[in-house]
Amino acid sequence: ATISLDNVDLNTGKSHMYFSKAMAEKLHREDIIEKEISLCLDNGTDAIYLNFQPQLHLATGRVVGFEALARMKSLELGNVSPAEFIDVAERKQLIIPLGNLVLKKACSFLSVLEKNGLSDLRVAVNVSGIQLIHEDFGSSVMEAVVDSGIRSENLELEITESVLLDNFTAVNKSLKDFQENGIRIALDDFGTGYSSFLRLNELNVNYLKLDRYFVGMVATSDRNDYITSDIISMAHKFDLEVIAEGVETVLQRDFLMENGCDIMQGYLFSKPLSEKDALELVRDGNTVTA
Ligand code: C2E
Ligand code: MG
Ligand code: MG
Ligand code: MG
Repeated sequence: ATISLDNVDLNTGKSHMYFSKAMAEKLHREDIIEKEISLCLDNGTDAIYLNFQPQLHLATGRVVGFEALARMKSLELGNVSPAEFIDVAERKQLIIPLGNLVLKKACSFLSVLEKNGLSDLRVAVNVSGIQLIHEDFGSSVMEAVVDSGIRSENLELEITESVLLDNFTAVNKSLKDFQENGIRIALDDFGTGYSSFLRLNELNVNYLKLDRYFVGMVATSDRNDYITSDIISMAHKFDLEVIAEGVETVLQRDFLMENGCDIMQGYLFSKPLSEKDALELVRDGNTVTA
């Protein structure tokens, strides 16, 4: 049986005995998150901001770019994880404007990088499936690019496999449109979902992001190592570059390097940084010039 959530009185709760206190608290928390996201979107509060995790080219050790990761600092709840507030935004019809805000902030960081002579660095933005299938998404992205004056070649979009399941043809077409405008596409969390292995040859992506799960398996047993190294060589056969997520140990990094992985990110090198710290990191000559 389904329970309607519409008439729940969170303050008394008494007439709705099937709601536990924990459930009521969860709904109350969601309410707060929803309100604070809306406030941020309407009034430009800084409740939502971005951190930037550096990505390193394994062969040279140079920073090639950053992944933008959304953060929420709630007045009432303190730090809220993206797993939680992105999920709320998706269910409360806020992910489109929130996604546009993230794009705008990421492009604004790219323009700061360019102004500092760092015009070869990329920034990757996570895109929710709801955004990707929205009819205005393409124009929102191009608007963010044009308004900030950045080179579209420096913007990367990270998508996940799940959105491809039901919308392969339409999504793949829009990925091609992005690529034709210079924007690069990364397939995030590769290997965790229903793998698009079989259609990887048709898929319009530039990078495959090896999920943290596979990186974590490295050097735990030979058999697992084979899986990770096979994914890397398979990606290369499809002309995709591989970005390893969640690299935490020297052992993992060395394995990835030996097995031809192209790019890595993870706590071993750096946690996600504030915009200021991210800029400082690359301004100190930690990147390729020209
Ligand atoms: P993701 O895109 O797979 O991002 C990688 C996650 O791994 C990030 O978690 C990052 O902080 C974390 N991470 C990076 N290096 C390491 C490491 O060495 N060890 C460990 N244990 N973790 C590491 P975070 O920031 O909590 O984000 C979680 C997820 O939330 C992201 O997963 C992404 O799916 C989503 N997300 C974050 N920002 C946005 C956004 O702006 N829009 C959308 N739609 N989703 C976002
Ligand atoms: Mg990502
Ligand atoms: Mg990922
Ligand atoms: Mg992941």
